[in-house]
Amino acid sequence: METKESVLFMKKRKVVDRIDALAALEDLEKKMNQLKKRKTELLAIAGLASTDKIATTNGMIMATPKVSNVNNSIRSVTKGAVGANNNSNSIRDEHITTFVSETILPTKQGKFRIRAYRCETLGMEPLAIMHENVKGDFANASEAITLRVHDKCMTSEVLGSLKCDCKEQLFTSMSYVQNNGGMVIYLQQEGRGIGIANKIAAYNLQEHGADTVEANTRLGLPAEARRYEPVKFILDDLKVKHVSLMTNNPFKISSLEKLGIRVTSRKSIIIEPNMYSSKYLKCKRERMGHYDLISNYMVVSDGDGKA
Ligand SMILES: [Zn+2]
Repeated sequence: METKESVLFMKKRKVVDRIDALAALEDLEKKMNQLKKRKTELLAIAGLASTDKIATTNGMIMATPKVSNVNNSIRSVTKGAVGANNNSNSIRDEHITTFVSETILPTKQGKFRIRAYRCETLGMEPLAIMHENVKGDFANASEAITLRVHDKCMTSEVLGSLKCDCKEQLFTSMSYVQNNGGMVIYLQQEGRGIGIANKIAAYNLQEHGADTVEANTRLGLPAEARRYEPVKFILDDLKVKHVSLMTNNPFKISSLEKLGIRVTSRKSIIIEPNMYSSKYLKCKRERMGHYDLISNYMVVSDGDGKA
């Protein structure tokens, strides 16, 4: 016979069962979202969009990407290549960068041959900038190719900001390339890869006393978020065997070397600091391990300090 207590007990139990069932459902939902996220990541590595039609046969993923890599051909990606174990293969398979087109561009620094590339996974359209007379590739070059790997800086290059020396570094290296040969690779990664809005937020904190590194840390952003995989693809495309890097930044050298790029020497770019940039340049030197930037002249000099 049902007592009042037993009815209440059964009701309570049903509620507990429902709560358990809801918790289990929530758990499943979480796992599904994780799997969806992982699927998107794997598709991105393979250069496919989530809306692409995919059929899996015998361990092969066959798909027609909506936005293809230039030739619009059907690509097949083996499962082994996605999330690969082999280091050099995983670098090659991640952030595939393909040539789009080229033109001759007249500039204040002279005429340049500009080759445009596209890396869909990083959302970047890098440019390789060289003298207009450079034809074909560098397969027959006997010496290291002088290379400047330059990251976009809208605040200085477009708005004329005096807070950093990026615009001067870009134009100095373009002039160097115009007069001495070599190449500038321009990558659209603003503010060390954190993007323009985050960079403005970091500047805001800097107005209140933080330096470049502290500002990024307080915003929960890495001090360095730049990616250089496209550089490897571009150098391979142009058959560059080894480079003399125009940089003051040891991080750039080690990043490129990790990608299998042979950096055989370094040339420093020395830009005269102004009253706004001197604090930033001091931070680059003291907090980010940049090589010494002190000089009174805008020059490109050898790594040993000789002009
Ligand atoms: Zn800058």
